[in-house]
Amino acid sequence: MSSVIHLLPDHVANQIAAGEVVQRPASVVKELLENAVDAKSTNIKLIVKDAGRSLIQVIDNGLGMNVTDARMCFERHATSKIRHAEDLFSLYTKGFRGEALASIAAIAHVELKTKQENDELGTHIIIEGSKFISQDPAVLPKGTSFAVKNLFFNIPARRNFLKSETVEHRHIIDEFQRVALAHPAIHFTFIHNGSELFNLPSSNLRQRIVNLFAGKTNEKLVPISEETEIVKVQGFIAKPEFSKKSRTEQFFFVNDRFIKSGYLHHAVMAAYEGLLKDGMQPGYFIYLDVPPNTIDINIHPTKTEIKFDDEHSLYAILRSTVKHSLGQFNVAPVLDFDRDPNLDTPYEYQEKEASMPMIQVDANFNPFADDKPSKSYSGSSYREKRTESPAWESLYVGLKNDVQEIDVHSFEQVAVSSSLFNDVDLEESQNRTYQIHKKYIVSSIKSGMMVIDQQRAHQRILYEQYLKNMTVQQASSQQLLFPLELYFSVHEIQLLNELKPSLVTTGFVFDLIENDKVIISGIPVHITESEVSIVLEELMNDLQSDTPENSFSINDSIAKSMAKSLAVRTGTYLTEKEQENIVNSLFACKEPNVSPFHKPTFITISVDDIDKKFAI
Ligand code: ADP
Ligand code: MG
Repeated sequence: MSSVIHLLPDHVANQIAAGEVVQRPASVVKELLENAVDAKSTNIKLIVKDAGRSLIQVIDNGLGMNVTDARMCFERHATSKIRHAEDLFSLYTKGFRGEALASIAAIAHVELKTKQENDELGTHIIIEGSKFISQDPAVLPKGTSFAVKNLFFNIPARRNFLKSETVEHRHIIDEFQRVALAHPAIHFTFIHNGSELFNLPSSNLRQRIVNLFAGKTNEKLVPISEETEIVKVQGFIAKPEFSKKSRTEQFFFVNDRFIKSGYLHHAVMAAYEGLLKDGMQPGYFIYLDVPPNTIDINIHPTKTEIKFDDEHSLYAILRSTVKHSLGQFNVAPVLDFDRDPNLDTPYEYQEKEASMPMIQVDANFNPFADDKPSKSYSGSSYREKRTESPAWESLYVGLKNDVQEIDVHSFEQVAVSSSLFNDVDLEESQNRTYQIHKKYIVSSIKSGMMVIDQQRAHQRILYEQYLKNMTVQQASSQQLLFPLELYFSVHEIQLLNELKPSLVTTGFVFDLIENDKVIISGIPVHITESEVSIVLEELMNDLQSDTPENSFSINDSIAKSMAKSLAVRTGTYLTEKEQENIVNSLFACKEPNVSPFHKPTFITISVDDIDKKFAI
């Protein structure tokens, strides 16, 4: 039999390797930026078009390459960074495998322009799918420019597999941020679709963090510093009160390389113990320097995990360093005169004295009365009550506008026919409702009784209301006397920009969204001013992990997230009117049976069931 084994041609091997190195446009960004850093550049410019689908270009002012190297760099295992296996143990560069450029060139159209300082002419190379198209001398400035176009042009499956532009763009920003944070002394610029997203001049670390994230970041940061034999720890941690729900501002760098480590994260969290509210995440920018021979350097180029020789000691050192800084900060809190009160909201609530809600029983209330439904059921009576009892607002958010938003006509429908209640059949509308355990609303129905989960029910009501507003675009908005100024990271601003059209239909009025700042002059009627930043933050947090591809589902996600944030919670006392309002609004919903998160909103217990219990 003839032999069947043969060696794969280089371009095929490169294409296979590329699958590992280049998963998405952001991988190319990472490799090109790291090469530019390794080439000792002081100024690096990233230019991206269409989240990397059409163009990713990195221009640096580093060492450049001579004619031979310019061609060589596209060969697999072509690297200037190690010569011997031992070099691996004293590595201070990002790259060392010589795989990245070969891989990228295998699956894209690449144009390289490079010149070394003392050469008169530079080299201009065009390579497409591992095939050299041209190589010419050219007049060029010192440094290197790689332009990568038509990524995955010869692997359609991969190209189609790319996520939405939003998701890919976010990955690119992530990579950019990581490299920029690791090298504050380098001037980085990032231009996306022609507009400058970041311009980060050479600076110290603190300034770099502030330039990358929101403008108020500076006041959040507490420095940390520790030096021991096995590790040097430096960087900044965020004060506990600035913790967020998302983990987007948590960074570890080891020898200037971004890494992820659940173990070290745990050490930091342990130091914050007792200082954070449930589910909140502190921001941190922590830089560890360890001798290169104490980490396992044989890391895959795309992987960000790392193995340390002495993990346990690192854990202990990190924990105590962070704890120490937190302690110091607590003893001597920084005076911030221009603190943004909006960021403090949850804590104001904490300090608010609890006041007893007023119980108002309206014995004559009959939602089915034909004559003036709007009186017994109207927003105005609610508003009156609000002025009597200001604490009411924080206790019970969100129902005051139900009338205008969803209920007026469905109310009439209810009045005309009780068939809306389907098999549930409320016995009589003036039935009393009772709240038990500040969690359930109980009501008598023809067949027995009904128990409604107040939180889930309200989520359903708000969810349908928002969705309706978004589709018919007629949400009312409350004009703010003083526009709200909120700060977000560039990342979040980008997301906000995309969400803007949908948010506007819920009642938000944005005067300005730029850099890290948002000015809001109108908000949906059922949100209080102090809730705005929480709602937006939760919304972005919900959307960040998974952005739906089409706008319909973006609306859906926004409606869900806002319903979740604003629905009345378990543990909230409800007046009888509020209970009734929930019951009525719930059954005016299209899908009253389940919450937006597919959990049952109510159960019914038949008289038979009750009889059976007594029969024992
Ligand atoms: P690695 O970074 O692992 O060495 P790469 O494929 O990324 O492998 O790059 C191959 C080689 O090309 C590098 O070792 C370096 O010598 C050269 N090179 C790549 N990018 C640049 C650049 N921007 N400036 C100067 N030399 C570069
Ligand atoms: Mg490299």
